[in-house]
Amino acid sequence: MQEAASVQPGKWKLTHNRPECIGCGACAAIAPTFWVMAEDGKSDIIDSHKRDDGWEEIEIEDKDEEINREAAESCPVNVIHLTDTEGKQTI
Ligand code: SF4
Repeated sequence: MQEAASVQPGKWKLTHNRPECIGCGACAAIAPTFWVMAEDGKSDIIDSHKRDDGWEEIEIEDKDEEINREAAESCPVNVIHLTDTEGKQTI
């Protein structure tokens, strides 16, 4: 498993436990500039790093935290997470 790079100040790490995604489509409906539905029925974070464990991750700016938090809050199986600059998972 690869270690995630540390998050810079003013940025967030957005992660997706893709193996547990049930493909409901809520994230892609709420934040279509970050989330897209894939052919296998699950969602993807656009242009994200694909980890060996199947998770996806990407660093996002402060300005994009709110819309992705809305996506995370809408996820029925809680597989979208946001981690702050101190490494604390906030959702
Ligand atoms: S909201 Fe959650 S379960 Fe639904 S497609 Fe997005 S990540 Fe998957």
